[in-house]
Amino acid sequence: STPVAIFCALTKAAISGLLLKGGDYIETLSGIKTVAFDKTGTITRGEFTVTDFSVVDDISIETLLYWVSSIESKSSHPMAAALVEYGMSRSVRPIPENVENFDNFAGEGVFGRIDGKDIYIGNRRIGARADSKRVDCHLQFQSHEISSPKQYCGPTLVGVFSLVDTCRSGALEAIEQLKLLGVRSVLLTGDSTQAAMYVHSQLNHLLDIVHAELLPVEKAVIIENWKKDGLTAMIGDGINDAPALATADIGISMGISGSALANETGNAILMSNDIQKIPEAIRLARKTTRKLI
Ligand code: ADP
Ligand code: MG
Repeated sequence: STPVAIFCALTKAAISGLLLKGGDYIETLSGIKTVAFDKTGTITRGEFTVTDFSVVDDISIETLLYWVSSIESKSSHPMAAALVEYGMSRSVRPIPENVENFDNFAGEGVFGRIDGKDIYIGNRRIGARADSKRVDCHLQFQSHEISSPKQYCGPTLVGVFSLVDTCRSGALEAIEQLKLLGVRSVLLTGDSTQAAMYVHSQLNHLLDIVHAELLPVEKAVIIENWKKDGLTAMIGDGINDAPALATADIGISMGISGSALANETGNAILMSNDIQKIPEAIRLARKTTRKLI
């Protein structure tokens, strides 16, 4: 009977690494029209490497790296780890105790005061924040993937980092499978348009829509809109994705690298971190519900 079929499907999904927090989600998965993916840590590994570092102002590289790595050592963002690592590779040791007033701006970056300097590190939004303060000692770094530093220049800009991250193996296959199932794939990211378009090209331009430079709440608003057009799933690694995961008809958090908060928020956990399990689960759910009718 129905509960048995649902139970079998839940078990199969669990064995493949997708833990669903209830049988109702089999029904939801079977009718999914849109799958929205977070970029960093979901489509990509979330393991950044610093590929370029340039100083715009006449500050020494070592001093800048010391400030950056000390502030970033207080952040749990994947980019932060890469910046600390980069400092270490150049023999710069972070001293987190020297950082005062540390603050995290979700989807933007971080702030900290060190050696009497107020320093913002992050994207264009953080740049605007630093510039709006109009204080001389505000320093600003911009982290981004493949793009030219010039476009971000503002009065407080003192250094530019370039970071690269790579797509998870199986990401392209997952998008291809969703396409075969007639399911729309959407990319949601707080990262720059260039970084988002780079990932899009790595996925053979198979994504249906790419949304970049989003704040966490804006991701939730976009999910809300997709829901008007049918059942919508959101897959996120959890750092900043909690609102979007909670808004979706089914919120799936990436298990191993995802934060505990996301695991609380989501309706499912992808333990294997293998996003090919998403189209597989939709196929399984469709088969299961067809049997029930
Ligand atoms: P995504 O949506 O891709 O998961 P996030 O919302 O976590 O991205 O972050 C969006 C952007 O904010 C990053 O691409 C980066 O430019 C900036 N950012 C966030 N946290 C940090 C940090 N600790 N250091 C530097 N930049 C950061
Ligand atoms: Mg994220």
